[in-house]
Order: sequence, then C-alpha cells, then structure tokens
Amino acid sequence: MTRASDQTIDLGGMIEGIRRWVENESPTSNKAAVNRMLDLIAADLDGLPVRVDRLGGRNGYADMLRVGAGEADAPGILVLSHIDTVHPIGTLAGALPFRRDGDRLYGPGLYDMKGGAYLAFTALCAVARAGSARLPIVHLFTPDEEVGSPISREVIEAEARQARYVLVTEPARDGGKVVTSRKGVGRFEVTATGVPAHSGGSHRKGRSAIKEMAHQILAIEAMTDYTRGVTTSVGMISGGTAANVIPQHCHISVDLRVRDAAAGREFEQRILGLKSVDPDVKLKVTGGMNRPPFEKSAAIEALLRRAQALARDIGFELADTVMTGGGSDGNFTAALGLPTLDGLGIDGDGAHTEREHGLVSSIEPRTRLMRRLFETLE
Ligand SMILES: [Zn+2]
Repeated sequence: MTRASDQTIDLGGMIEGIRRWVENESPTSNKAAVNRMLDLIAADLDGLPVRVDRLGGRNGYADMLRVGAGEADAPGILVLSHIDTVHPIGTLAGALPFRRDGDRLYGPGLYDMKGGAYLAFTALCAVARAGSARLPIVHLFTPDEEVGSPISREVIEAEARQARYVLVTEPARDGGKVVTSRKGVGRFEVTATGVPAHSGGSHRKGRSAIKEMAHQILAIEAMTDYTRGVTTSVGMISGGTAANVIPQHCHISVDLRVRDAAAGREFEQRILGLKSVDPDVKLKVTGGMNRPPFEKSAAIEALLRRAQALARDIGFELADTVMTGGGSDGNFTAALGLPTLDGLGIDGDGAHTEREHGLVSSIEPRTRLMRRLFETLE
C-alpha cells in the first residue's frame, strides 16, 4: 500500500485546474453556463478509468454529472460537489477576478465550492488511476445547491441509499474545520390579500394587506429562540401599488433554521398555522422544511475520528465546528442516517461575497486527506 507521504501532488497544476473551473462562471440560474462547467469536468476526465453519466436537467436547471470509480457492486462512498455559484456572470470581469495574493486565491465560487470540488476530483482521479480505492466511489456534480437543490435532491438521496459513507466538499470553516452538523432549513411564502381603496376618498373601506403583514412579520420574528437554536427571519417583502392606494397585496419570504427534527415540525406547524389579525384580510401560507437538520450521530462521530487519524498521519489536526446555521446537501444524507462528513473542501473565507477566497496552503493536505479517505474507508 502506498503511504500518504509517497503521493506527489502537483500544486501548480492544481491551482491552474482550479483557475479553469473558476473562470467558467456558473451561477445556478444560467443553465448554459452550468452545463459548460460540466463539459469542462467531463473533458478533464478524458482517458481515465471512470464511468461518466450525464443526467439531464429540468425546470430550467442544468444537468448533473455522475462519475463512478471502482467496482460498482457494493455500497461505497458518495462524494457531493455542487458546481453552481451565487455569483452572476460578469463577477469575474468585475469585482472578483481570479487572482493570487500570497496564500489567497480569489475568484467567484472558489471557496464555495469549486476549490473543494477540484480537490476531491483530483483525489478521485489519482485513486482511479492507481486502482487504490477500497470501495466504489460515486462523485456527483450538481447544478442547483445554492437554491436548495430542487432537482438534484432526488438523485442525491437515491445515490445515498446505495452508499456507506457520504463526503461533502463544502468549504472548511475557521482554519480548516470540518462540519458534522448543520441546522435544518425551512422556507415559507406568505401572501396577504386585503381590500383596495383610495387612501384619501374611502380610507374606511380599505383593508390594508401591508398593515396585516406588519402584524405577521412581528409574530414570525418573535418565534426566534436562540436558546433552542431556532431562528426565523423575513428576508423579502413586496406589496402595494402607490402611496395613495390602500394596498390589496403584500408578500413576504420567510427563512426558518432549527437544530433538530422535532423543532422543525413544531415551527413548520406554527408558521403554516398563522391566522390573519384582520378578518377581512385573507392570509395564505405555503412552504415547509426544505433541508432536514443534519445531526451528529454516533456513526458521524466515528467517521470524523477516522478522518482525524488520517489527517494526523498527513501532518495536520482536523477539528470539527459547532453546528452551523447554513444548510448543504449533507443535510439530506445525514437525515437518511448515512455517516456524512461535510466541510472537506478548501479552507478560506468570504463565501458568497466579493472577497471570496481559498487558501493555497490548504490544497495539498486536504487533497491528501480526501485521497486517504478513498483508500481506507471500508
Ligand atoms: Zn456551497
């Protein structure tokens, strides 16, 4: 068996590979751009002993790429990487060009998560070439994580049901920490429909949808309970047509985060059960839990310990972070009971901002860790 220290990593080549992936901008909403990103990955796999399946997109989203290595007759390792980003096309030519500044590599989606996707991709190529994986590996590249994985969820869950472990290449946290738990996420849409009227001539006859919504917003925000790890927030609002019209319509979007499944059910009920304060205004609430909570099970703890031992062997300490508020595709697989280790991607900071960057110094150790996981998990 090869030792971790025997495996050479071409750091310059990896930075160049990450640059190519990052410079192919791929915001979720741009189907053609995300598909071009998949073309690039498929081209990079050319000549390797892997199976590549392209699953067609739908509902306006791009395709998915499923890359399989090793004999596929046993439950194996599922690797999850999303290749969509939140940055619109033009970010690269504007506020966030690809560039290196000391240890930092800047670029749209570099930290979340093309850097991490590329690390795992490199490790997968290495074990495929060497034939050194103990278990079959499926690496799934998905197009829609940044909007809640509406089309890939089904595929992720189906693959997870056939897997023994799930590794997620979301960014590392706070100096290289991995993620072993995440809050669950709920999304809701609330619409109020009142009675329009001239605000001067017939004020009494009007029933304001905005006034009604003001009550609802305060009620929703008041559900936040930090001690229970529950947060609610109204992130978007629209309504009304003119300053001199009692508004007929108002609409808000609500975000809910919970620590555990019981709280998810409870707060889902509370939000869906909201009633209008003014009986003449109709209130409609839709939505529910989107990502279930990712709770740290004993199997997740055991997987973390194995990864920590491998990291120590390579020469670094791998800590895990306290439960994070942001969801990922790891939420789906952890909720199915799969040992899921997340945050295995590149270290860095500034996800979703114009200072998004990954750290060059994290590329080599974390690529080695991914490779050793592929070679030792059984
Ligand atoms: Zn991400």
